Formats: sequence, C-alpha cells, structure tokens
Amino acid sequence: MLAMNYRGPFRVRTDEKPYPKILHPEDAIVRVTRSCICGSDLHLYHGLVPDTRVGSTFGHEFIGIVEEVGSQVTEIQVGDHVLVPFNIACGKCAFCKQELYGNCHESNPEATAVGGIFGYSHTAGGYDGGQAEYVRVPYANVGPTRIPPEMDPDDAVLLADVVPTAYQAAEMGGIKKGDTVVIFGAGPIGIMTAKCAWLFGAGRVIVIDHLEYRLEFVKNYAQCEAYNFRSMEDPVLFIKKTTDWFGADVCIDAVGGDAAGNAMQTITGRKLLLQAGSATALHWAINSVKKGGIVSIVGVYGPTDNLIPIGNVVNKGITIRANQASVKRVLPKLIDHVMAGRLNPKGIITHRLPLEEVSDAYRMFSSKLDNCIKPVLIP
Ligand code: NAD
Ligand code: ZN
Repeated sequence: MLAMNYRGPFRVRTDEKPYPKILHPEDAIVRVTRSCICGSDLHLYHGLVPDTRVGSTFGHEFIGIVEEVGSQVTEIQVGDHVLVPFNIACGKCAFCKQELYGNCHESNPEATAVGGIFGYSHTAGGYDGGQAEYVRVPYANVGPTRIPPEMDPDDAVLLADVVPTAYQAAEMGGIKKGDTVVIFGAGPIGIMTAKCAWLFGAGRVIVIDHLEYRLEFVKNYAQCEAYNFRSMEDPVLFIKKTTDWFGADVCIDAVGGDAAGNAMQTITGRKLLLQAGSATALHWAINSVKKGGIVSIVGVYGPTDNLIPIGNVVNKGITIRANQASVKRVLPKLIDHVMAGRLNPKGIITHRLPLEEVSDAYRMFSSKLDNCIKPVLIP
C-alpha cells in the first residue's frame, strides 16, 4: 500500500509499505478516505519531537471505511464509515474512566504524560498513522465512531482533532457570557477556537497572528476581530489598552512551541519565520490575561524545560488549563453542532491533494504557501 514515509527533518515522501496486520483481537484495519495534515505534524516534520523514527508514517486526523476487524471487535463492522479520534485509548484504565482519553495509560504505558496518538513518534506509543491507504486502529471498540450518513466527509475528518481541540480550548478557558477572549494563532486550531468561543457566550473574540491571509480568513469565517502582531508595538499593551487596562478574561494559546521554548525559530540552520512566535504566544497570553483570569493552552510543547513567566501567574492569580483534547468525550455534542449547522468545519479546508503529493503538501503547509489553511490528503 502507499503511505507517507518520514525520512528526517523536512523530508517526507510517499512510499510502498506493507499492508497493516491485525495484531490484537480488538484491532481493526481501516481503509483511509481522507487524512489531514495538522499543525502538530509540523513539529514532527521540523524534527522537534523526540524519538521520531525514520520510516514512520504520520497522520492522526483521518476517516475511512472498516476493512477488517479482530475477533473481539463488537462496536463497528466491516463496511462502516468511521471517524477515528486522534487519541488511542483503551477505554478501561483509570484515566479513560475519567474521560481523559488523551491520557490513556494502556495505549502508551512507557510514557508518563500523553497517551497513544496515531503517527506521533515513539513518545506517543510508536503507532503508524493514517496518512496512508490503510491503517491499523487499536482498541477499535473505543475510538472509531460511525459517521452519520448525512454528514459531509470533509466535516467528519475535522472531527478527529481540529474541532474537538478547538472546543476543548474554549471549554478549558471557562468562557462566561460576555467575556473577552483572546486567541493566539490563526491556524486551523485558532480559527476553529474562535468559532467555538462564541458557542460558549463570548462577548468579544480577538485573534492574533502575523499572517495577513489567515487574519483575513478568520475575520470572515468566525466573525471576530483579528490583528497582526507585527504591526503592533507590543501585543500585551495592545490587549490591555483595548480592555480598559483590565486584560482579557480568557487567553488561549493555539500556537505551541518546542522543548526549549524558542528553538522553533531556527532548526538545522533554517529560519522558520512562520513559527516565529513559539513560546512567545504563551508569554503574551499570561501577561495579557486579567488578574484571576484563565489561560488555556492547546498549543503543543515539548515535555520539559519550557520557561513561562511563573511570577506573573502567581501574582495575578491566573489559572492555567491545558491538555491534549479528549476527542471521544466531546464528540457527541460536536456531531450535534455540525449537523445543526452551528459549526461548519469543512469551511477551513483550502487544499485537497492526492497522497502521492505528500511532500508538496507538507512543504506548502509548513511554509504557509498558497494561502494554505488546512490541507487534506486523499489516498
Ligand atoms: P498552524 O501551524 O497551522 O498554526 C499556528 C499559527 O500560529 C500560525 O498561523 C502562525 O503564524 C501563528 N503564530 C506563530 N507564532 C505566533 C505568536 N507568537 N502569536 C500568535 N500567532 C502565532 O497549526 P495548527 O494546526 O493551527 O495547530 C496549532 C497548535 O495546536 C500546534 O502547536 C499544534 O501542535 C496544536 N494542537 C494541539 C492539539 C491538542 O490536542 N492539544 C491538537 C491539535 C493541534
Ligand atoms: Zn492534529
């Protein structure tokens, strides 16, 4: 079968790889019909995630048709159209029982933090991902969810990660009616978070980025304010001024960074201009939220040694909430929102490419070329 194949930082291609096998009676094999590239894949692509092995296949946002099931799979059948949450979760451990599906203890027993994730290095369990014609789906009674027949597959594929992550970002922000919410990052996650912030009753939604085409996009798509941090003297000052010097009620980091907090700017000698913020966004969030406010983090960071202005966190009495999204927990309500037309996820898809063009797709999304917001690979 054809699959995306990681060859090292900034090098990915499509190759023939062996068809996946059922390894456990609760596994299923899914024939992939849509598979997105995520901002999280860019951390892998940039070589910033520890233990990302050459030869691995990325891809944690996919839908498809069940091709084979193991002998203990009872919840889905061959032929079902399913969307597969990016978290691999056993459904039985102490964390899954609390609906912390992103922190499953069984799917990634060697890690202390994150649970298993499709196609996200050996730090997330070493599972191959769905940027491929076929993928093995472990714990197939837990994650895979039948797609309602009336749902557009382009909406369904964004329910594997983008919409749940954005919704959880807004939810962790504890947004109350009338709140001013500032979102850093106008990528797919920040854009969708702006949409979700309104669902929680926000009174004002402000998105900050430096890519004009994304700022224009989010203004129209989410009917919010959008500003370029490059044209500001200081984003923290800007937010204070526009909130009568109180600060925002809620700040959301939809940017992320790397283990050192700033190395995203230069990796292997290349300037990554478009990742210029990295941990900067989190500093801005902490410094511009009001006293007693909430900072919600969904941007992905390396596991250790990140520096944040902890003094301001303490002195302002800020609450910080963060996690990988728990997709299965929020999926039922998000399916309702999409079916009722309150959310229109497919509106952010700007590019559809065949799996064979994986190398061009990564280059385009990483370098933010051709006004790319969200690319989808079609095997
Ligand atoms: P993306 O790379 O498309 O978007 C990131 C955006 O941030 C870009 O538009 C970039 O210009 C902007 N940016 C960079 N520095 C900034 C700064 N200082 N201030 C404001 N904006 C800045 O990625 P995405 O797909 O939108 O993902 C965003 C983040 O969310 C990534 O870190 C990704 O790993 C993470 N993520 C987390 C989860 C989760 O479950 N927690 C799920 C999906 C994605
Ligand atoms: Zn993702």
